[in-house]
Amino acid sequence: MVRELSTARLEKKVCISESAQCYHFEFVLDSLESFPFAAGQFISAVAPDASGKQQTRAYSIASATNGNRFDLCVNRVESGFFSNYLADLPDLPIGATIQIHGPHGHFILKEPVTDSILIATGTGVAPMRGFAQWLFPEDGPDRSNGKEIWLVYGTRHETELYYHDEFAALAARHPNFHYMVTLSRAQESWTGLRGYVQEYVAKIVEERAARLGLTLPQSPPDPAIPKAELTFDIYAYICGLNNMVAGVRETLAGYGWHRKQIVFERYD
Ligand SMILES: Cc1cc2nc3c(=O)[nH]c(=O)nc-3n(C[C@H](O)[C@H](O)[C@H](O)COP(=O)(O)OP(=O)(O)OC[C@H]3O[C@@H](n4cnc5c(N)ncnc54)[C@H](O)[C@@H]3O)c2cc1C
Repeated sequence: MVRELSTARLEKKVCISESAQCYHFEFVLDSLESFPFAAGQFISAVAPDASGKQQTRAYSIASATNGNRFDLCVNRVESGFFSNYLADLPDLPIGATIQIHGPHGHFILKEPVTDSILIATGTGVAPMRGFAQWLFPEDGPDRSNGKEIWLVYGTRHETELYYHDEFAALAARHPNFHYMVTLSRAQESWTGLRGYVQEYVAKIVEERAARLGLTLPQSPPDPAIPKAELTFDIYAYICGLNNMVAGVRETLAGYGWHRKQIVFERYD
């Protein structure tokens, strides 16, 4: 299938973790008046490799819809083609371009907004930044409906936390946004949470059930309700590498969560 490509001009590139070689990018689509998308969707980037073969890779949009702009968050993958192609885009003089198509994907928030657990590791935090910007815009009304929103963000080291200050500031401004960082290989000086995201997802589910007087595991939904019409009062949104996604899905399934309550995006 031939896709219509758009040229995206790089306006800003910042290395947000030296140790993880992770970059934040801001692109502008000059030929479009607006680039509407749902927070959590991805774009496909296209470029020829050294042999001239067109390569395409998906990248989650790391921002909420904003005119003709979008952000990406990409880390170098050893011996990888596209992640290094992006990481090597010259940041000065500014104005390098890439070809993209999209937006694509179904990793988007359910509406109306419910209590939600956002779970990410590594650059899986990219769509979560989009969700957070959409739910709690700086220059518009809050879209969270007062629901509880948890962001459980796991990485190995403190130096590999992306957008940490932004999420911390958001949590300070919005009491219903709960930002939980857990490090799997923290230094001794780290005073925050340690271990894997699954552990803290379990804690959220258990504490919420206790607070609301719900029993766990939750009962399956009424089989008379058609699958397409099933709705839940809490959803989980998981993004990252397959191992983590599978681990969190298993944890939630253990609490009787229905598979339709678990929305996920796998990067590998
Ligand atoms: C829907 C979707 C959204 C994505 N969003 C992002 C994003 O926001 N940011 C981001 O950095 N990546 C994202 N990815 C991953 C991205 O598409 C590429 O797979 C990644 O950048 C590596 O591409 P590459 O061309 O550099 O490596 P390749 O040349 O494709 O692969 C090189 C080697 O690295 C392994 N590999 C591939 N991907 C990864 C990975 N993610 N981590 C570790 N090893 C890997 C491959 O198995 C292979 O052995 C997303 C993937 C999907 C499917």
